[in-house]
Amino acid sequence: MKFRLNDIMAMQTPFYYYDTQLLRETLDQLKRHAQGLPAVIHYAVKANGNPRILKEIADAGLGADLVSGGEIKAALAAGFDPQMMAYAGVGKTDWEIRLGLDQKIGCFNVESVPEMDVINQLALEAGRMAPIAIRVNPDIDAHTHRYITTGTAENKFGITLEDLPAVIDHAIALPHIHLRGLHFHIGSQLTLMEPYRMLCDKVNELQDYYEQRGVRFEIINVGGGLGIDYDNPDKHSVADFEQYFAVFKQHLNLRPGQQLHFELGRAIIAQCGSLISRVLYVKRNRDKSFVILDAGMTDLIRPALYEAHHQVQNLTSVATEQDIYDVVGPICESSDVFARNFSLPITQRGDLIAIRSAGAYGESMASTYNMQPLPPAHFL
Ligand SMILES: *Cc1c(COP(=O)(O)O)cnc(C)c1O
Repeated sequence: MKFRLNDIMAMQTPFYYYDTQLLRETLDQLKRHAQGLPAVIHYAVKANGNPRILKEIADAGLGADLVSGGEIKAALAAGFDPQMMAYAGVGKTDWEIRLGLDQKIGCFNVESVPEMDVINQLALEAGRMAPIAIRVNPDIDAHTHRYITTGTAENKFGITLEDLPAVIDHAIALPHIHLRGLHFHIGSQLTLMEPYRMLCDKVNELQDYYEQRGVRFEIINVGGGLGIDYDNPDKHSVADFEQYFAVFKQHLNLRPGQQLHFELGRAIIAQCGSLISRVLYVKRNRDKSFVILDAGMTDLIRPALYEAHHQVQNLTSVATEQDIYDVVGPICESSDVFARNFSLPITQRGDLIAIRSAGAYGESMASTYNMQPLPPAHFL
C-alpha cells in the first residue's frame, strides 16, 4: 500500500489508514481469477466493517458473509444485495434470525439441529421459507494457529460427518426449511493449498453419496480463509487468488447449475490497511530497547490474541543505521507487544510507525480497554 506522508504527518495518531486504490486492484484481481467458476464471492464483513470499505466492496458486486444482526444491518446499509448474503454463526439469536428472514437473505448457514428447529419455527411465524446451508465440519486440519482453525472435530463449529446424514434428513423434513446447500469453512490465514484440495475431495465424496440418495444441492459454499503474506506486504500486496481458485477449478466436481460460494475476508482487505502510530518514547532496560507507541493492543489485538506477526515500518526516520527494538503499546498488559527483537532504523520520539497488513481483524476487533478511544480511519 501507499502512504501519503504529508497528509499522515498532520493527523492525530493512532489511526487506521486504508489504500482505496489497492482495494480496487485487489477486487479486480479477485474477480478476474474467479472467472471460469460459477462463483458467488461473499466478503466476510467481520474482517473489516468500516462503512466506506463495505460500500467499495458492495459496489464491486460481491455478496456478504455475516455473523451477527449488526453485520446484517451494516451490509444492508452499504448496499449489499440481500440475496447475496450468507449468515453464519453458532449462536444466532431470535431477533437476528427474524431480521434475516424479514430481509430475505440468501442463506442461513446453520450450525446445529436446535438452531435449525428455531429457524424453522421463526420462519413459520413469519410465513416464510428459510433458505439454509448446513455447515459441515469436514475434520480437515488447516495447519494454522489453533485459535483460527475451525474445521476439525474438536471445535464448536458445524455438524460432524457422522451426524450429517441424520441432520440432512431432519432439514428435508422441516416444512419451513429450504435446504439449499452445504457450507464448509476450515480455518483462517491458510497459505498452503493442500487443505483446500482435501476439502474438494471431501465435497466430491459427499456429493456422490447424496446424489445416489436423491439429494442435490444448489450451493456448495467452501468458506474463506485464504491467507496473505504478513512478512512481505509490498512484494505480495494482493493475495494469490490465482493459485487459490485454481485448486477449485482443478479438483471440485460441481454439478450443472450449481453455484460455488466463497467467503473471503482477510485476503480482500488485510494488505489494504495499516495502523499508523507515533513513537512516544524510546526506553532502554539493561540490554533491551523498547519503542513505545501511542497505539496498542486495543487498536490491533492480533499479536496479543493469536501471536500474529506484523511488519513494522518507520515511515519518517532518515537514519542509515539500524537497532534492535521491542515495539510495544501503552496498555497495561505484558502481551501488548507488536514485535520483539525487531530491526528498525534508529528510532526516536515523534517518528511515525506503520504496522502493516492491518486491514483485516484490526479496526473490527478494536476495544476501549483502559478507556482508550477507538481508532479513527482515514483513506488514501
Ligand atoms: C471468519 C469467517 C470467514 C472469513 O475468514 P477469512 O480468513 O477472513 O477469509 C469466512 N467464513 C466464515 C464462516 C467465517 O467465520
